[in-house]
Amino acid sequence: MASGSGQPAFTPLAAKSPFELRVDLGKHVGESEVRRALATGDMGFLHSFTTGSTVDGCGVRVVAWTAGCMWRCLYCHNPDTWTMGNGIPLSLTRATDELRKYRHGLRAMSGGFTLSGGEALMQDRFAVKLLAAARAMGIHTALDTNGYYGDRLTDEELETADLVLLDIKGWDPERHRRLTGMDIGPTLAFARRLAARRRPIWLRFVLVPGWSDDPHEVAEIARFAASLGTVERVDVLPFHQMGRFKWKRLGLKYELDAVSPPAPEAVERACAVFRAEGLHAY
Ligand code: SF4
Repeated sequence: MASGSGQPAFTPLAAKSPFELRVDLGKHVGESEVRRALATGDMGFLHSFTTGSTVDGCGVRVVAWTAGCMWRCLYCHNPDTWTMGNGIPLSLTRATDELRKYRHGLRAMSGGFTLSGGEALMQDRFAVKLLAAARAMGIHTALDTNGYYGDRLTDEELETADLVLLDIKGWDPERHRRLTGMDIGPTLAFARRLAARRRPIWLRFVLVPGWSDDPHEVAEIARFAASLGTVERVDVLPFHQMGRFKWKRLGLKYELDAVSPPAPEAVERACAVFRAEGLHAY
């Protein structure tokens, strides 16, 4: 059975991948309830849970994808996660119970839990509480973020993430603004703060031909990453078109139709720039 939005009347929390288009699942939640959720973190809005990820932190991981993001990256492959109201509203207790099912397996596989999005720190209270709950179960935790709202977390709260997957999407401020809609400053400030507190970082960098592949800019990002001293790994992620269908289905103007994924040699060249700074890049 389908609802008026085209979604099944009951959408399961688990998804095969975040590439499932999900809309309006939290639309019925009133504004005051949303405000209370944001203030307390006792309820969150999630696009989905996925299991078995090997690309969102060390080992095999369960990933919770939050709904809500204030950035507008031209290459975003999950624009349905921009709006909190598209996510499934669920209590912190239910999210924790869901995670509890996997705790033994995750520990056995030296894996963990990753909170991603959307932008997980749009729901910073929920993020901190869910990460803390995971840690209390002995599960390794990772926070995948663009860092823009990093200052919403106290130093103590930063410790709820054993690892931060920090997305740096560009270097030139003007180009970064055109690519993401937002300033790069807060992301870099968050990176420096993590480094000052000796928090482990995996840096993620999406290589988009014509947008983020300028060798000078890649070199600047690599120098910055190396200067932090706590970047354990760099993932150079090739741009792809897997999310294009979502833009079309949501009626959004997609500007990267004509952009092809980078050649493997271009990805390797970018990795080499990071390696030249002494970083482990893949
Ligand atoms: S920060 Fe992530 S979720 Fe937000 S628009 Fe960019 S790619 Fe999409």
